[in-house]
Amino acid sequence: MLAEMGDHTFRLGHVARDSYESLLLSETLLDHLSDSMPEGAPMCGDCPFLPYCGADPIFHRATQGDGVGHKAFSDFCKKQMGVLRHLLGLLEDDARAREVLMGWVEP
Ligand code: SF4
Repeated sequence: MLAEMGDHTFRLGHVARDSYESLLLSETLLDHLSDSMPEGAPMCGDCPFLPYCGADPIFHRATQGDGVGHKAFSDFCKKQMGVLRHLLGLLEDDARAREVLMGWVEP
């Protein structure tokens, strides 16, 4: 969708002209891989939800102009915190919901 809007930030190359190796080792890919690691992002590094969270470089590029984004103004972060707070609340306060959720993660 970004490319459709003229933003080719995430373009790695051309599948017909570029080699597989050059696509996978491109600076573009390496730059965006680091944007997808929240451990080093401002706010995320100190967030208790970090082990359960993730990153959305495309969303942040589209809404804030860079792949990391300012989490204080990020709807992605707001959504993640809401979902994770809700799930943790269910795990703490609702025995039946806890049983269902734990059934999804336990063998
Ligand atoms: S909830 Fe927000 S601040 Fe916490 S890790 Fe996720 S994106 Fe980062």
